[in-house]
Amino acid sequence: DQFIAIEDVTKRYRGAGDLLAVDRVSTSIERGQFISILGPSGCGKSTLMQMVAGLAAPSSGRIAIDGKPVTAPQTDVGIVFQDTNLLDWRSVMRNIMLQIEIRKLDRAAYSDRARSLLAMVGLDGFEDKLPHQLSGGMKQRVSICRALIHDPPLLLMDEPFGALDALTRDQLNVDLQDIWLESGKTVIFVTHSISEAVFLSDRVLVMSPRPATVAADIHIDLPRR
Ligand code: ADP
Ligand code: ADP
Repeated sequence: DQFIAIEDVTKRYRGAGDLLAVDRVSTSIERGQFISILGPSGCGKSTLMQMVAGLAAPSSGRIAIDGKPVTAPQTDVGIVFQDTNLLDWRSVMRNIMLQIEIRKLDRAAYSDRARSLLAMVGLDGFEDKLPHQLSGGMKQRVSICRALIHDPPLLLMDEPFGALDALTRDQLNVDLQDIWLESGKTVIFVTHSISEAVFLSDRVLVMSPRPATVAADIHIDLPRR
């Protein structure tokens, strides 16, 4: 069941350097897959992810999600970056609900979902805390809830745990795997950690050094817990 189609996608950044970041990448991603994009820093992983999210346009080639060409920022995805960008004057709850407010959706209808997402990541009772009262790992848990609040079928994660210590990172990996197993969402996870990619994913795309091309496409028989 093909969900995302990436066809012959190239990204060239014009300007002083005229830098080729992604070179003729073609692949398709199945619904419900947890796919890691693994490669050295600066190889073009974020660029590829941004094109899937519709935040950057390919220089050539096509991307489609669920048969629809990606030509603008996608609303039906959740995105988690390394930098959580939580608004420090807003409570945990109101940070998670930001997407709902922006989309002018019914707040009451989503606040229960926000609470159950918080419980799922071990943060029940933290609704009224402010971001500065939380550890780095907790902030990243909140940003995962924020990405999932509108129940998008696709979750994009760009080095989400890169700034965390090893123990916190391992815990978040376990929790993320639980979320994936329970929700059945399609997840694209950018990382430069081989162990993280192998632990989490049922498929790993290994990218070459820049420009990013698919150097290996590895399917992993993930042991289910
Ligand atoms: P990765 O995510 O693998 O670290 P990126 O996709 O962030 O790689 O970057 C790939 C290359 O493209 C890098 O050399 C980076 O400096 C360059 N790059 C990324 N975004 C831009 C941009 N908006 N303008 C110009 N160059 C960029
Ligand atoms: P990563 O953590 O994946 O290596 P970077 O730190 O290279 O990412 O880039 C962070 C952000 O800055 C990305 O959104 C990328 O598109 C943008 N960026 C990276 N390099 C450049 C550049 N040379 N010019 C403009 N934007 C850039």
